[in-house]
Amino acid sequence: MRCENCGFREFREELLPEGKLELCELCDHPHGDSALVASHLDRLRAKDANVDFAIWPLYKLLEGWPEVKVGKSSAGDPQLTIPPYIYFSLRRNTLKPLEKLSISLEMAARKMHSRWVIEAAYQRGLSFSLRPMFFAVDPHELPQVIELAQQDVPTLASTLERDMSLNWWSQS
Ligand SMILES: [Zn+2]
Repeated sequence: MRCENCGFREFREELLPEGKLELCELCDHPHGDSALVASHLDRLRAKDANVDFAIWPLYKLLEGWPEVKVGKSSAGDPQLTIPPYIYFSLRRNTLKPLEKLSISLEMAARKMHSRWVIEAAYQRGLSFSLRPMFFAVDPHELPQVIELAQQDVPTLASTLERDMSLNWWSQS
Protein backbone atom coordinates (compact mmCIF):
# COMPACT_ATOMS: atom_id res chain seq x y z
CA MET A 1 0.00 0.00 0.00
CA ARG A 2 1.13 3.53 -0.84
CA CYS A 3 0.07 6.80 0.73
CA GLU A 4 -2.66 8.46 -1.39
CA ASN A 5 -1.12 11.82 -0.66
CA CYS A 6 2.64 11.36 -1.00
CA GLY A 7 3.24 7.78 -2.16
CA PHE A 8 5.22 6.77 0.93
CA ARG A 9 5.00 3.09 1.91
CA GLU A 10 5.20 3.15 5.67
CA PHE A 11 2.24 3.60 7.97
CA ARG A 12 1.49 3.69 11.63
CA GLU A 13 -1.72 2.73 13.37
CA GLU A 14 -3.99 5.26 15.01
CA LEU A 15 -6.58 3.90 17.41
CA LEU A 16 -9.86 5.78 17.76
CA PRO A 17 -12.77 4.73 20.01
CA GLU A 18 -14.64 3.81 16.82
CA GLY A 19 -11.87 1.79 15.17
CA LYS A 20 -8.42 1.76 13.62
CA LEU A 21 -6.81 4.00 11.00
CA GLU A 22 -3.49 3.94 9.15
CA LEU A 23 -1.56 7.21 9.10
CA CYS A 24 1.26 7.82 6.61
CA GLU A 25 4.59 7.94 8.49
CA LEU A 26 5.81 10.74 6.27
CA CYS A 27 2.85 13.12 5.83
CA ASP A 28 0.27 11.86 8.41
CA HIS A 29 -2.37 11.44 5.71
CA PRO A 30 -5.14 9.17 7.14
CA HIS A 31 -6.24 5.99 5.32
CA GLY A 32 -9.24 3.87 6.21
CA ASP A 33 -13.00 3.90 6.53
CA SER A 34 -14.38 7.31 5.51
CA ALA A 35 -16.34 7.81 8.76
CA LEU A 36 -13.16 7.06 10.72
CA VAL A 37 -11.14 9.47 8.59
CA ALA A 38 -13.79 12.15 9.20
CA SER A 39 -13.67 11.49 12.95
CA HIS A 40 -9.85 11.63 12.91
CA LEU A 41 -9.88 14.98 11.05
CA ASP A 42 -12.50 16.28 13.48
CA ARG A 43 -10.22 15.37 16.40
CA LEU A 44 -7.34 17.19 14.76
CA ARG A 45 -9.49 20.30 14.31
CA ALA A 46 -10.49 20.19 17.98
CA LYS A 47 -6.83 19.80 18.99
CA ASP A 48 -5.79 22.72 16.76
CA ALA A 49 -8.51 24.86 18.33
CA ASN A 50 -7.35 23.71 21.78
CA VAL A 51 -10.85 22.45 22.57
CA ASP A 52 -11.51 19.23 24.46
CA PHE A 53 -13.02 16.70 22.06
CA ALA A 54 -15.81 15.89 24.54
CA ILE A 55 -17.29 19.41 24.12
CA TRP A 56 -16.23 19.76 20.46
CA PRO A 57 -19.56 18.59 18.90
CA LEU A 58 -21.32 21.60 20.51
CA TYR A 59 -18.39 23.96 20.11
CA LYS A 60 -18.03 23.42 16.38
CA LEU A 61 -21.76 23.97 15.78
CA LEU A 62 -21.74 27.31 17.66
CA GLU A 63 -18.50 28.26 15.96
CA GLY A 64 -20.22 27.75 12.62
CA TRP A 65 -22.77 30.52 13.29
CA PRO A 66 -21.67 33.81 11.76
CA GLU A 67 -23.38 35.78 14.58
CA VAL A 68 -21.58 33.91 17.34
CA LYS A 69 -18.05 34.35 18.65
CA VAL A 70 -17.08 31.32 20.72
CA GLY A 71 -14.80 31.80 23.71
CA LYS A 72 -13.49 29.60 26.47
CA SER A 73 -14.97 26.12 26.85
CA SER A 74 -14.59 23.04 29.00
CA ALA A 75 -15.71 19.45 28.70
CA GLY A 76 -16.14 19.55 32.48
CA ASP A 77 -14.46 17.57 35.20
CA PRO A 78 -16.60 15.61 37.69
CA GLN A 79 -13.74 15.20 40.21
CA LEU A 80 -13.00 18.95 40.22
CA THR A 81 -16.77 19.60 40.09
CA ILE A 82 -16.45 21.67 36.92
CA PRO A 83 -19.50 21.38 34.67
CA PRO A 84 -19.18 21.37 30.90
CA TYR A 85 -19.62 24.87 29.42
CA ILE A 86 -19.05 27.10 26.41
CA TYR A 87 -18.73 30.86 26.64
CA PHE A 88 -19.75 32.94 23.67
CA SER A 89 -20.66 36.45 22.66
CA LEU A 90 -22.69 37.86 19.80
CA ARG A 91 -21.10 39.71 16.92
CA ARG A 92 -24.27 41.60 16.12
CA ASN A 93 -26.84 43.31 18.24
CA THR A 94 -29.53 40.68 17.80
CA LEU A 95 -31.16 38.16 20.09
CA LYS A 96 -32.03 35.77 17.24
CA PRO A 97 -29.22 33.27 17.92
CA LEU A 98 -30.23 33.13 21.61
CA GLU A 99 -33.84 32.56 20.63
CA LYS A 100 -32.94 29.71 18.28
CA LEU A 101 -30.59 28.12 20.78
CA SER A 102 -33.27 28.37 23.48
CA ILE A 103 -35.80 26.63 21.25
CA SER A 104 -33.31 23.81 20.60
CA LEU A 105 -32.61 23.53 24.34
CA GLU A 106 -36.36 23.10 24.90
CA MET A 107 -36.52 20.49 22.14
CA ALA A 108 -33.62 18.54 23.63
CA ALA A 109 -34.71 18.93 27.27
CA ARG A 110 -36.71 15.72 27.46
CA LYS A 111 -33.76 13.66 26.23
CA MET A 112 -31.21 15.18 28.58
CA HIS A 113 -30.12 14.39 32.13
CA SER A 114 -29.63 18.03 33.14
CA ARG A 115 -31.41 21.28 32.51
CA TRP A 116 -29.13 23.24 30.14
CA VAL A 117 -29.42 27.02 30.12
CA ILE A 118 -27.98 30.12 28.53
CA GLU A 119 -26.59 32.41 31.19
CA ALA A 120 -25.81 36.06 30.56
CA ALA A 121 -23.05 38.02 32.27
CA TYR A 122 -21.27 41.27 31.68
CA GLN A 123 -17.54 40.92 30.97
CA ARG A 124 -16.28 43.90 28.95
CA GLY A 125 -19.51 43.39 26.97
CA LEU A 126 -22.43 41.06 27.16
CA SER A 127 -21.24 37.47 27.25
CA PHE A 128 -23.14 34.21 27.49
CA SER A 129 -22.48 30.70 28.65
CA LEU A 130 -24.20 27.54 27.56
CA ARG A 131 -24.10 25.13 30.49
CA PRO A 132 -26.13 22.74 32.64
CA MET A 133 -27.86 24.26 35.64
CA PHE A 134 -28.04 22.14 38.77
CA PHE A 135 -30.86 22.73 41.23
CA ALA A 136 -30.53 21.74 44.88
CA VAL A 137 -27.93 19.07 44.26
CA ASP A 138 -26.25 17.52 47.28
CA PRO A 139 -22.51 18.42 47.03
CA HIS A 140 -21.63 14.72 47.37
CA GLU A 141 -23.71 13.92 44.32
CA LEU A 142 -22.27 16.73 42.22
CA PRO A 143 -19.53 14.62 40.50
CA GLN A 144 -22.13 12.11 39.36
CA VAL A 145 -24.54 14.84 38.21
CA ILE A 146 -21.72 16.47 36.22
CA GLU A 147 -20.86 13.14 34.63
CA LEU A 148 -24.47 12.84 33.44
CA ALA A 149 -24.39 16.43 32.14
CA GLN A 150 -21.29 15.50 30.11
CA GLN A 151 -23.35 12.79 28.46
CA ASP A 152 -25.82 15.49 27.40
CA VAL A 153 -23.25 17.12 25.09
CA PRO A 154 -23.66 14.73 22.12
CA THR A 155 -27.45 14.67 22.65
CA LEU A 156 -27.69 18.45 22.60
CA ALA A 157 -25.30 18.68 19.64
CA SER A 158 -27.35 16.27 17.55
CA THR A 159 -30.61 18.10 18.36
CA LEU A 160 -28.98 21.40 17.47
CA GLU A 161 -27.56 20.00 14.26
CA ARG A 162 -30.97 18.66 13.28
CA ASP A 163 -32.72 21.96 14.09
CA MET A 164 -30.16 23.92 12.08
CA SER A 165 -31.18 21.92 9.01
CA LEU A 166 -34.92 22.59 9.50
CA ASN A 167 -37.00 25.32 7.90
CA TRP A 168 -37.87 27.23 11.06
CA TRP A 169 -34.18 27.73 11.73
CA SER A 170 -33.33 29.42 8.47
CA GLN A 171 -36.61 31.31 8.24
CA SER A 172 -36.67 32.84 11.69
ZN1 LIG B 1 1.99 10.39 2.92
